[in-house]
Amino acid sequence: MIKVDYIIVGQGLAGSVLAFLLMQKGQSVMIFDNYTEGSKKASSQIAAGVINPITGMRFVKTWRIDELLPVAYSTYKEIETVLGIKLWHDRHFIRVLRHIEEENNWLLRQNYADYASFCGQIPPSVSESLEAHFKPHYAYATVNRGAQVNLPLLVSRFKTYFKDNACFTNGEIISDDLIVSTTCVQYKNIEAQKIIFCEGAKGSTNPYFSYLPFNPDKGELLLVRIPNLNWTNIYKNKMAIVPLHDTEGATKDLYWVGATNTWAFENDQPEERAKLLIINELKSNLNTDFEVVFHQAAIRPTVKDRRPFIGLHPKHPNIAIFNGFGTKGTSLVPFWANHFTDFLLQNTPLDKEVDICRFSG
Ligand SMILES: Cc1cc2nc3c(=O)[nH]c(=O)nc-3n(C[C@H](O)[C@H](O)[C@H](O)COP(=O)(O)OP(=O)(O)OC[C@H]3O[C@@H](n4cnc5c(N)ncnc54)[C@H](O)[C@@H]3O)c2cc1C
Repeated sequence: MIKVDYIIVGQGLAGSVLAFLLMQKGQSVMIFDNYTEGSKKASSQIAAGVINPITGMRFVKTWRIDELLPVAYSTYKEIETVLGIKLWHDRHFIRVLRHIEEENNWLLRQNYADYASFCGQIPPSVSESLEAHFKPHYAYATVNRGAQVNLPLLVSRFKTYFKDNACFTNGEIISDDLIVSTTCVQYKNIEAQKIIFCEGAKGSTNPYFSYLPFNPDKGELLLVRIPNLNWTNIYKNKMAIVPLHDTEGATKDLYWVGATNTWAFENDQPEERAKLLIINELKSNLNTDFEVVFHQAAIRPTVKDRRPFIGLHPKHPNIAIFNGFGTKGTSLVPFWANHFTDFLLQNTPLDKEVDICRFSG
């Protein structure tokens, strides 16, 4: 029998960062993931990894962004050091203002002291590029302090890291095969103090947590080549055009464009109608030619009240969940993984806004 402190189920962004923080605090883990190469993708493997501090037509700060941003930055920087890769890219958002009402909303926001660091001016070089490569729009706004984190790279390098540390198992955890006692859980030949499910959208079918109000959302994107655009900002209208990730080397001229949102879907595969939707959106924004390189889809772990699902099962305290990061995993996961680690190791209270005890099991 192999004994570890924690079994982590799922090696997307959530499972990877949580396992990493637990290991940094001296805990032993065994991570399971059933991902195999092919057209089936986990959300973290295709996400743009964008952190957008101000969203919506009213330009409201993202929930708790002032707390989330510094922890996201320091956690990804720590991961960069340990894995020896670059993940974090500072990005400005150039937002299209479609009409006077949006412009007024934006101008109003600029008067709020706590929005000052997020509100910027369009630099002259960006204005020139907008004129040359994009269709004209009513006006533009610049949102500062945005970022983009290379999530596909993070997930793939963490897999190697966990394998090198002999704490990764390629395979699916079947919840029905768990043996749960009052002091530990056992899965096949592995015994742990706790098992933590970080299954992304698949969490909605987990028998221990299916009572939680998951609301999975299918997202699709195109990777496109736009020669000579040389754009390092994130262009945001209905969809986003995101540079991948530096403008040099293999990713030069490549842009991530998306994404769609669909709550009623039959499978997790790319669909032609989503591709056409994104192409039409690109054509109505770009003044320049582009070439579609590939098309991908995955299911986001979105939830009805838009707050993460974190905590212990109401009847089995050895079974835990760390999920529900929806459309904003990049900013949410580092903060809440640190918070959950403190809860697990130091018994600090879980924030009521994210604790699954807000639902009855
Ligand atoms: C098109 C698209 C664009 C997005 N863009 C952004 C963005 O710009 N910014 C942002 O913040 N967020 C974005 N997101 C959302 C982001 O991807 C998610 O918030 C985040 O990646 C969720 O991570 P996760 O680890 O919870 O889930 P996942 O990435 O889905 O990972 C779950 C993992 O668990 C494994 N698994 C599940 N069940 C089991 C089991 N029983 N046994 C073993 N393994 C199991 C799965 O194979 C998978 O590898 C986007 C999502 C999509 C689809």
